Amino acid sequence: FHYQYITYTLVCNKSTWFPFRLVLSISSNLQQSVRIAADCGNTKQSPINIVTKKVVFDSRLTPVQFTGYQETINTLITNNGHTVQVNLPDRAAISGANLGANYKAQQLHLHWGKNGGPGSEHTIDGEKYPMELHIVHIKENYNSVEQAINDPSGVAVLGLFYEAIFRTKNGNFVTTCKTSFLGTNVTLSAVSLDMLILPHNELERYFRYQGSLTTPGCSEAVVWTIFEKAIPLSKEQLSAFSNLTFSDGTAMVNTHRPVQLRYGREVYYSRSYVFCVSTALFVSSVFTSLCVLTV
Ligand SMILES: [Zn+2]
Repeated sequence: FHYQYITYTLVCNKSTWFPFRLVLSISSNLQQSVRIAADCGNTKQSPINIVTKKVVFDSRLTPVQFTGYQETINTLITNNGHTVQVNLPDRAAISGANLGANYKAQQLHLHWGKNGGPGSEHTIDGEKYPMELHIVHIKENYNSVEQAINDPSGVAVLGLFYEAIFRTKNGNFVTTCKTSFLGTNVTLSAVSLDMLILPHNELERYFRYQGSLTTPGCSEAVVWTIFEKAIPLSKEQLSAFSNLTFSDGTAMVNTHRPVQLRYGREVYYSRSYVFCVSTALFVSSVFTSLCVLTV
């Protein structure tokens, strides 16, 4: 076998994020390049900038139902040369939230910047968060992401932002991240998905839109759920990700694709945005019905 590395930017001229490289066999080179170029230049690409003033309230966007997220797993955390990835058992699944199907977990990975600077893929009103977690799920009747991408809603990705805080550390994540610097493949023991995300009652506000994978080949098969509340993480923990390296030895920084045009796509929101956002939990629970009425 003879493989050739092609920098992604050569294939997709609209995409300037450099870290992702494609490995294509010579024989299928041309065919794949054409297909990837077509997908990446299409009209339902991700990530996007979410303009909160323009989101459309959708009452069908009920809370995501998490199954198996509390189960502890033993798995591998891998520096795969592009990002940090954790393979997940498909016992973990999501449903509800107007997804229309059960989706089983496949893997999670992260996108970040440099030394804790801006690094998320999605932006909110033009603002980038320092890091973004993607938990990738596929419709339960498929066996792999490769199969699921042929279905326009075959993949469901949950996106969570991290925000820098200057107070206490997020203990669970410290343990998780430190191990990833020891080698390219480290066992992760007794970790549950719930330890990596926020308490479920803090995940009721989210954005929904139809988009694509943000890595080659940009397949437009993703139902995106982007949670509004960010996970707090200390600045030094966020910076630590810049110590990782790509397979060619250069610093693994800025592992995010730039925002893409919306081309008229709506972004839906699970709650009325108008009054509830910054209200204390108690007050908002009392007034939720009132807020909905005033939209
Ligand atoms: Zn991603």
